[in-house]
Amino acid sequence: MSDPKDPASIEVRPDRPLLIVDVDEVLGLFMHGFGRYVAERGYEMRIERFALFQNIYKVGDTQHIDVPTGKILFDDFFRFGSEHMEPAPNAIASLNRLACSADIVVLTNAPGHARLPRERWLARHGIDYPMIINEGPKGEAVASLATRTEHPSAFVDDLLHNLDSAAKAAPAVHRFQHVADERLRQYAPASPLHRRIDDWLTLAAELEAVLTTRPR
Ligand SMILES: [Mg+2]
Repeated sequence: MSDPKDPASIEVRPDRPLLIVDVDEVLGLFMHGFGRYVAERGYEMRIERFALFQNIYKVGDTQHIDVPTGKILFDDFFRFGSEHMEPAPNAIASLNRLACSADIVVLTNAPGHARLPRERWLARHGIDYPMIINEGPKGEAVASLATRTEHPSAFVDDLLHNLDSAAKAAPAVHRFQHVADERLRQYAPASPLHRRIDDWLTLAAELEAVLTTRPR
């Protein structure tokens, strides 16, 4: 049985390409979902920088919330609100099409208590693929998965530190940065180390191309 905290317990078939994909700001519109959640509790999200808690204010305040307040809202969102997040435009259909040519593993950084709500979210949207709940940079998990297929692998995430860590731990894995929230994109730093594609239809076509081309 697979353990959602242990990449080694996830089956990876050696004879299939592998796509490793993040949830928040890749498959799902996290900032929209979290923004709705905090709005019901007297806060508002004003996206003015590439940050999380620094974009959240008590309604009417000029100073953003502090980290302890943000952490409570964040943990509660993953307990009670994350199931209601909207999928990113074209993400679900694209992923299910890609599943015809590659194995899919969902690699998410979320609190441990997010597992069941997150699994229900994936199932509800018809993307019921194996999921790993990771902590910290994702490179080791990406390497552990990708090393077990003889075919190409790709990894999609919105955050540079996860992509940078994959570049170090598993340099052969194709890396793509995707920032689903259209308000956040202008503030999201990119890097020449990773391809940046914020539109799922273009991303899916590029993923299909790299995953189905075997190096000689
Ligand atoms: Mg993310």
